[in-house]
Amino acid sequence: MTNSTPTVRSGSSANSRSTKMPGVRCPNCYAKGQEVWVIPGKSCHVCHTPCA
Ligand SMILES: [Zn+2]
Repeated sequence: MTNSTPTVRSGSSANSRSTKMPGVRCPNCYAKGQEVWVIPGKSCHVCHTPCA
């Protein structure tokens, strides 16, 4: 029995994202070409727009 080919390879790629963004992207800053991530319920720390 030779198991040289890994069978489970694409199964763990869906849940291995440790770099998950902590919330929502500020639409106001995004319109200006900036990607600012805001915690849902908080205000944007750049333009102070409340993001849900
Ligand atoms: Zn903003």
